[in-house]
Amino acid sequence: MTWETIIGLEIHAQLNTESKIFCGCATRFGDEPNSNTCPTCLGLPGALPVLNRSVVELGARAALALGLQINKTSIFARKNYFYPDLPKGYQISQFDQPFSANGELEIMTAERDDAGHPLEWLPKKIQITRLHLEEDAGKNVHEGLPDVDRYSYIDLNRAGVPLAEIVTEPDFRSSWEAYDYVNHVRRSLQWVGASEADMEKGNLRCEANVSVRRVGDDKFGTKVELKNLNSVRFMQRAIEFEVARHIKTLEAGGRINQETRLWDEKAAQTRVMRSKEEAHDYRYFPEPDLPPLEVTQEFINRVRGEMPELPEDRRKRFMTNYGLPFGDASQLISDRALADYYEKAAEASGNPRGAANWIRTELLRELEVANLSAAESPVAAEELGALVRLIDEEKISGKQGKDVLVEMFKTGKTAQTIIEEQGLVQVSDTGEIDQLIDSVIAANPGELASYRSGKETLLGFFVGQVIKASKGKANPKVVNERLRAKLQG
Ligand code: ADP
Ligand code: ZN
Ligand code: MG
Repeated sequence: MTWETIIGLEIHAQLNTESKIFCGCATRFGDEPNSNTCPTCLGLPGALPVLNRSVVELGARAALALGLQINKTSIFARKNYFYPDLPKGYQISQFDQPFSANGELEIMTAERDDAGHPLEWLPKKIQITRLHLEEDAGKNVHEGLPDVDRYSYIDLNRAGVPLAEIVTEPDFRSSWEAYDYVNHVRRSLQWVGASEADMEKGNLRCEANVSVRRVGDDKFGTKVELKNLNSVRFMQRAIEFEVARHIKTLEAGGRINQETRLWDEKAAQTRVMRSKEEAHDYRYFPEPDLPPLEVTQEFINRVRGEMPELPEDRRKRFMTNYGLPFGDASQLISDRALADYYEKAAEASGNPRGAANWIRTELLRELEVANLSAAESPVAAEELGALVRLIDEEKISGKQGKDVLVEMFKTGKTAQTIIEEQGLVQVSDTGEIDQLIDSVIAANPGELASYRSGKETLLGFFVGQVIKASKGKANPKVVNERLRAKLQG
């Protein structure tokens, strides 16, 4: 019996504003508990919410980056429930008239092998049901041991922080599709400046709805909702666990309960948090203290006009204009600063593919070791481009170039300065190279004999020896040509 996995995702992303959605309190993270509060976000009687314009602006950026339609009119609604971190007894959210809806987003996705390496990258269209605006709740903080010295506190600094909730149709058919989608959304939100979208900081949170059905069935199975997914990888693992649990249960003749489950990364399993049976009648109704949110076509056009070129468009341009393979282009658009860096370096080098290789291998490694982003690189993009040009012009060898880059990274000096200071030159002079070749051949009569009796793979050995004898200065192209001639005898 074969089974099909069905997944729908809900993402909460904190919009990157200075102040909260309905009051002027700071959204700053890590401040003294309850210091960023006022009558409005404390839910005191009589305090009135006023919508923060920046929330609409960033919400619009997020919606446009994900291919959603922005509604000209949307309505804030009260979602009623009781929880200690929700002092008003309701959350201001949006219900039947959300800020934006009906998105179609194309993502690139691949299944992975057992080692986690992507197989074939393919496009897939995901329907995004809606993106709506809402306020975050506060936070319960528990300290001490239960039944011993346990105290619970409430921190309302987070109450009223603006969120975009992004809900998809049940369109994912594997945990990796869900994984690739969340990464796509994260990168898009960061790219357009709508959200920091950092799961570790909790400013992007993700819930996965998971069910399975027998292949050929057209009705969906009972879904469970997974929470406490603190990274995209945890989410992927939680989904895998859950799918296996559903299949095992159903094949044994059991049934799946509609419930919310928490992922426990240490135990590598999910466990029940609450049953949906006891759920929720939020008794939504329109928020009487806020007028409908109206946006004009001019507003939408302006926001669209101010958006940067989106990552997927950029990837396509890198592939067609610069001849980069899909994987290389994808890596270079993983972060907007890196994409900008690459473009400047490609321009300065006159060799876009070469610049891509140097960034992807040498520069990114140095950045990772130093724990820096591309935006913080001590080697300016133009300087990296200049280095690639010097190598292409055969002023220095590729091998020397690697050392020069490390030195540029350490000292901030230009490639030209380092080359002059260290007296680096690439030796292309055939006379000098011939001498080295002769002594290498003389020192390795056995290898020479093997080569001449047909073991041509030994060419690499001889090239290596000659380059070594030149202390890395010999031009490999010239060495290759001369060696071939000489080895033939
Ligand atoms: P609820 O009323 O329980 O919140 P919704 O219909 O609002 O359910 O859907 C919530 C999320 O669950 C959406 O992302 C949706 O795509 C997804 N979803 C709905 N039904 C299923 C299902 N059978 N299996 C997996 N995901 C589902
Ligand atoms: Zn406030
Ligand atoms: Mg729902």
